[in-house]
Amino acid sequence: SETVERHSFGAEVGRLLDLVVHALYSEREIFLRELVANAADAVDRRRFGALTESALALPADAKVRISPDKDARTLTLSDPGIGMTKDELAQNLGTIARSGTRAFSQSLADAKPEERPSLIGQFGVGFYSAFMVADRVEVTSRKAGSDEAWTWASEGQGEYTLAPATRSEPGTDIVLHMKADAEEYLEPIRLETILRKWADHITVPVTLVRDGEEVPSTKGTALWRKAKSEVSEEDYTEFYRQVAHAFDKPWATLHWRAEGQLEFTALLFVPGMKPFMAVEEQRDSKVRLHVRRMFITDEAGLLPSWLRFVQGVVDTEDLPLNVSREMLQATPVLARIRRAVTAKVLSELKTRAKDAESYATFWQAFGPVLKEGLWEDAEHRQDIANLLRFHSSTQEGWTSLADYVARMKPNQEAIYILVGDDVDALKRSAQIEGFTARGLEVLLLSDHVDAFWPERMDAYEGKPIRSITQGGDDLSAFEPEVSEGDAPADLADLLPKLKEALKDDVSDVKASQRLVDSAVLLSAPAFGPDLQMQRLLRRAGR
Ligand code: ADP
Ligand code: MG
Repeated sequence: SETVERHSFGAEVGRLLDLVVHALYSEREIFLRELVANAADAVDRRRFGALTESALALPADAKVRISPDKDARTLTLSDPGIGMTKDELAQNLGTIARSGTRAFSQSLADAKPEERPSLIGQFGVGFYSAFMVADRVEVTSRKAGSDEAWTWASEGQGEYTLAPATRSEPGTDIVLHMKADAEEYLEPIRLETILRKWADHITVPVTLVRDGEEVPSTKGTALWRKAKSEVSEEDYTEFYRQVAHAFDKPWATLHWRAEGQLEFTALLFVPGMKPFMAVEEQRDSKVRLHVRRMFITDEAGLLPSWLRFVQGVVDTEDLPLNVSREMLQATPVLARIRRAVTAKVLSELKTRAKDAESYATFWQAFGPVLKEGLWEDAEHRQDIANLLRFHSSTQEGWTSLADYVARMKPNQEAIYILVGDDVDALKRSAQIEGFTARGLEVLLLSDHVDAFWPERMDAYEGKPIRSITQGGDDLSAFEPEVSEGDAPADLADLLPKLKEALKDDVSDVKASQRLVDSAVLLSAPAFGPDLQMQRLLRRAGR
């Protein structure tokens, strides 16, 4: 009809659809997880909106309904959620919001097949997974608070249409016209198996229409509210995969209940590996805040940003159900929960650090994020310092500051560090020759943040942390353990000449005790930025 508007997808979306449909083909069943998760999110958002705007109130028996129809070969998902306006349909389903196709396709290429499904959740492109099983998708939606409804429809081939529609209540229906080879997803038993696998923890009930009757197919139990003894390891893993959009096993699972001054239940996970969406790109903790089971927000900053890799849920009794965004910002309750949860995570890390091998996998994935806390969080600096692991000029594998201090020479005052881009290059650097010759250990640091935090953490257990590129040339207190070869040449004539020749490039030329094989090395002043910091500043164009 004339009222049907045709739109093309952005070029990005067209390519993305192709990628999703082909790369994830072997894991097609995840389309159901993604669509139910969207429906549940929409219901949560409407419930939250209703706190301040009573017109948005949810019907009492709010649920997500899934109806397969074998004759028509359609699968329909209906939710009484917040709904979408015409513009939102075009925006949310016709463009890519969170990240470009390029980043997504690169990650797909890097990922092992079994890792791919989690990517669509991480990149916020879950809706498009519908096209793995359907050759036409129709979304009819009415935004809560409005009378208008619209239908978005597409065959996933470069364009979509928008047309006026009717819907008696706010919410969204998604009709999937199933591909011939996807008919298994019209079998109630098949659908139920998939739902039971992961949707049990969704707090909105999900029902399946079977022989004309609605049967509940998820329990809607909030897993975190159960006693630990009632939860199996598989339950934890499935829940983790759902909240973290992950496919691996959690490296750590923390499930506890705080009682007394502060009442909350927390179920938190440290992932088993780095997510594909770089943690570096995200800034804030996404731990979900619930009040008496009800989801409130994942933007409450329940953990400091240097623990943003931790995933999970905190559910509290100490906030009213009708908590508003303003109140969330002002309430001291959140700050108290944050302190308690941060302490718990740190103490778990401390315990787990005793198992060096297992801790190394954690450290490799998230150490660089944790180190940001040294820079920005004075309160936790010492706790974090004990969790640090380093490469070293004299040790294999990882070593801690405590172990370094235990190995220090009797008359050694400082902890020596060398910062650069690459550990292997640091190991060969002329900077450490003099230290190696005297049996002095140097810690080798190569993460981005390593250029910054040593400036804020000037000591560990009373031992100053000193960049060896920064003055501090006095190694005369230490006897070389290996012969330095010929007696030092008399440099009295040479130095003034070199100084004159290099006067535009360096501020001074001095004899050094630090060289063994190399002829010269560059050194930074004892105060001010060390060499790595100078390099970064130069790259930043200062
Ligand atoms: P994500 O859920 O990670 O944002 P999706 O591709 O799954 O990415 O969904 C894109 C967006 O479409 C959602 O953020 C939401 O705004 C909107 N959306 C999808 N399904 C629904 C629904 N059932 N009700 C309301 N909005 C929806
Ligand atoms: Mg989604």
